Amino acid sequence: MYEIAIIGAGPAGASAALFAAKAGKKTLLIDNDKGMTRRGWYENFYGISEIGGPDLVETGHKQAVKFGAELVAEQATGLSASGEGFVIETESGAAYEAKHVILATGVLTDLAAKAGVETKDGTEPRIKTVVAATAEGKTNIDGIWAAGTVAGVSVHGIITAGDGAKVAVNVISELNGARYVDHDLLKA
Ligand SMILES: Cc1cc2nc3c(=O)[nH]c(=O)nc-3n(C[C@H](O)[C@H](O)[C@H](O)COP(=O)(O)OP(=O)(O)OC[C@H]3O[C@@H](n4cnc5c(N)ncnc54)[C@H](O)[C@@H]3O)c2cc1C
Repeated sequence: MYEIAIIGAGPAGASAALFAAKAGKKTLLIDNDKGMTRRGWYENFYGISEIGGPDLVETGHKQAVKFGAELVAEQATGLSASGEGFVIETESGAAYEAKHVILATGVLTDLAAKAGVETKDGTEPRIKTVVAATAEGKTNIDGIWAAGTVAGVSVHGIITAGDGAKVAVNVISELNGARYVDHDLLKA
């Protein structure tokens, strides 16, 4: 069983996976590569002068995989409670079990709604519906979290990436039973 499974590998999901895997959690990242991030050109990402969407997405995937996240190119079609966690079903017929699930599905809330996760009207331009999530990223179902555009945050790359990281830190902290920080020292 995975400790943390993330559905959607845009900036929100891949950033969450990076933090989860780097924290030593058994991490699954499922993505069907239909997100909005590849279409953008980014000059407002702190620390990066400018970057195209495809490079941003691919670098993020590499960072998550480098720390041990398992990236699966699949469409998640079902999400339901199972044992001590959840089972995620995919289009190919595969099933993955996870203790915690982070929804990072961008503009799409169909999977969330099918799983019984509460949604609400979005407030950002062109974002019609979002998951009803708390500031921590919790949904109405204990163990299912939401991050990034689908959680209703401002639709900007750095904000969705930061939100994914934030939600992952909250999930890691819950698994550890203590607040978690990931700080590395400057290398010589
Ligand atoms: C044309 C354009 C230009 C932009 N320019 C800028 C800019 O200059 N600066 C800026 O800050 N922001 C810009 N943005 C906004 C920015 O791209 C987004 O805010 C941000 O990248 C969204 O990240 P996300 O992870 O929330 O969603 P996404 O990147 O959309 O990622 C969601 C992922 O979930 C996957 N997914 C969804 N459902 C499933 C499922 N059932 N199974 C498997 N995978 C699933 C999708 O395939 C996708 O990969 C732009 C957006 C667009 C469209």
